[in-house]
Amino acid sequence: MQRSDAGHMTEAEGKPGSDEPTKQSSLHEKARQICDIARGFYQRGWVLGTSGNFSSVLSRHPLRLAITSSGVDKGLMEPANVLEVDQEGSVLSGAGRPSAETLLHIMIVRCRGAGAVLHTHSVWSNILSEAFRSRGGVEIQGYEMLKGLDGIQSHDEREWLPVIDNSQDMTALSSLIADHLGSLPRCHGFLLRRHGLYTWGRDLEEAKRHIEILEFLLEVIGRTHGFAGQN
Ligand SMILES: [Zn+2]
Repeated sequence: MQRSDAGHMTEAEGKPGSDEPTKQSSLHEKARQICDIARGFYQRGWVLGTSGNFSSVLSRHPLRLAITSSGVDKGLMEPANVLEVDQEGSVLSGAGRPSAETLLHIMIVRCRGAGAVLHTHSVWSNILSEAFRSRGGVEIQGYEMLKGLDGIQSHDEREWLPVIDNSQDMTALSSLIADHLGSLPRCHGFLLRRHGLYTWGRDLEEAKRHIEILEFLLEVIGRTHGFAGQN
């Protein structure tokens, strides 16, 4: 499926009759891909301990997601640690309980028509979400790496990564994030304050690339602004 900009995807694009990218995919295949991503991100220090969570759409009608089980060390993740959940976040198959942030994944899939959602708890996303909180977000412009984000053609294009206050109330947080995404149709992700980075893509490969691009840019900006501290 060719889209000009992941930020412009809508749920309608994933409805029957479209070339839905995830329709034929099995839970096991997605679970293996998610485990590879989890171990890779763990090695990079982006999801230490049991932090972070990852999901991929298995079907849209009805909505079914493969999502990481809560409380599993991302460096030791196995396919059996990936669950299938429905549109309410209830487990349909697999042992374990889904992440508390499952509702956020479901909301992002619905708001953006995304095929995969990835979430890291990196050092730089924590530092910059606090440092830029008073500005409401992080403006990123002028970097060649921006072109790794779907739909961005030039280093001169502007990416705005909003900072949203963290909460343990997932229903309220989901609603707040939906409001931000509704007002920022071109953004590729957001930061939860002192918590981490969320991004998405049409599939796991694209979402993984977006994490890598955004984590790179956050680190560059952090170091450029001297937030490196003791580094
Ligand atoms: Zn989190």
